[in-house]
Amino acid sequence: MTISRTGGRCDIAIVGGGIVGLATAYSLLRRDPRQKLVVLEKEAQVGAHQTGHNSGVIHSGLYYKPGSLKAKNCLEGYAKLLQFCRENEIAHEVCGKIVVATSQSELSQLEMLYQRGLANGLDGVRRLDADEIKQLEPHCAGLAGLFVPQTGIVDYSAMVNCLRDQVANLGGTVLTNQTVAEIQSRDETVRIASNSAEFVADRVVTCGGLHSDRLARETDRDLDLRIVPFRGEYFELEPEARHLVKNLIYPVPDPNFPFLGVHFTRRIDGTIECGPNAVLAFAREGYRKTDFSVRDFSQTLAWSGFRKIARKYWRTGLGEYRRSFSKRAFVRALQKLVPEIQAKHLRPCGSGVRAQACSRDGLLLDDFEIRTNGRVTHVCNAPSPAATASLAIGDSIAELVLGDKSH
Ligand SMILES: Cc1cc2nc3c(=O)[nH]c(=O)nc-3n(C[C@H](O)[C@H](O)[C@H](O)COP(=O)(O)OP(=O)(O)OC[C@H]3O[C@@H](n4cnc5c(N)ncnc54)[C@H](O)[C@@H]3O)c2cc1C
Repeated sequence: MTISRTGGRCDIAIVGGGIVGLATAYSLLRRDPRQKLVVLEKEAQVGAHQTGHNSGVIHSGLYYKPGSLKAKNCLEGYAKLLQFCRENEIAHEVCGKIVVATSQSELSQLEMLYQRGLANGLDGVRRLDADEIKQLEPHCAGLAGLFVPQTGIVDYSAMVNCLRDQVANLGGTVLTNQTVAEIQSRDETVRIASNSAEFVADRVVTCGGLHSDRLARETDRDLDLRIVPFRGEYFELEPEARHLVKNLIYPVPDPNFPFLGVHFTRRIDGTIECGPNAVLAFAREGYRKTDFSVRDFSQTLAWSGFRKIARKYWRTGLGEYRRSFSKRAFVRALQKLVPEIQAKHLRPCGSGVRAQACSRDGLLLDDFEIRTNGRVTHVCNAPSPAATASLAIGDSIAELVLGDKSH
């Protein structure tokens, strides 16, 4: 029996054709191209969700706790990503970024970031005073800052399409329009049922992004985390205002919510993106404010961990909603970094939804989380910088899966 749209027998099945799933498939096939491998993606094309809606930044590894999976995989993945882009002629640029403190109260956190950068082994990170900030970004106001030379920008959609082609060249099969609804672990094999076919595999890896918890629950009914979706909305600078930003300008992150804080990002196509904010999404793939899914929203509300977070941080959440519904509030947040920005310089330019894992105890899981249950490995939490880190994550999952297979 061969693998086809109507199902079949394979060595490894990967659920999810985002950058993590395809990087995993690529790594597995590079190690052993004789494997019969299939990637099952529910959309009509790969990279349709987080991977295709992100900021396009190649993160340096500055922020992450030394020793964490994020720090390790971001640094390793950074080098692998640059090599992959060079070999495959994917548009990218290492342009550097600045992180800017705009109030005295942020200075200690800025210094902590600097020390973290050193601890993570980043070469060339340097402190900036107000004049040095102006030399790099003439329209940026800040008391002090950091310059991070390693940060870059890339076209992640081009990268994920290239990974899909590489997987096919190595003999893998990428099937789209295949929504996996059931995963059943048996003694010797795993049965996977999609909307239209049934597959039997020796090993399964799920990389479901916004649906990672649902896929993980297929083999672990007591799973102690759930995905809470947060929509991030962007504006872009009108062409006449693009001169206000050269590269990437970030605020000092709030240690409780490192993913909050609107910033400026030059994209690889030359446009300047502003944002994103982060508001609770009422649908896991809810890219518009009005998108609502009864199933998704009721599952979020039913999760005790989410209710604990909501009780604790409702004020922060309201601030993000204010920036979602009021362009003025969004502009005010941007003006902290670049005071000349005005509402007329901004036009809406889409959104992305982050898959944020939340524990039963009410913690937003910061680190990557990968769990193995018998023959099935689940990527449960792969938030930013998982696009940067994807090739390293793929390699470590491949080691895990092939290592297991040889036993
Ligand atoms: C707004 C935003 C900005 C970001 N900016 C950056 C950045 O600048 N740099 C960076 O490194 N990271 C960034 N990230 C994070 C990064 O984009 C993600 O960590 C990364 O894309 C995760 O990849 P993934 O493959 O796990 O998930 P996804 O790209 O979401 O892919 C998961 C795939 O699984 C499929 N799937 C789900 N359920 C099923 C099922 N039942 N059957 C079949 N298929 C299924 C989905 O359709 C989807 O294609 C950002 C994220 C967001 C949302």
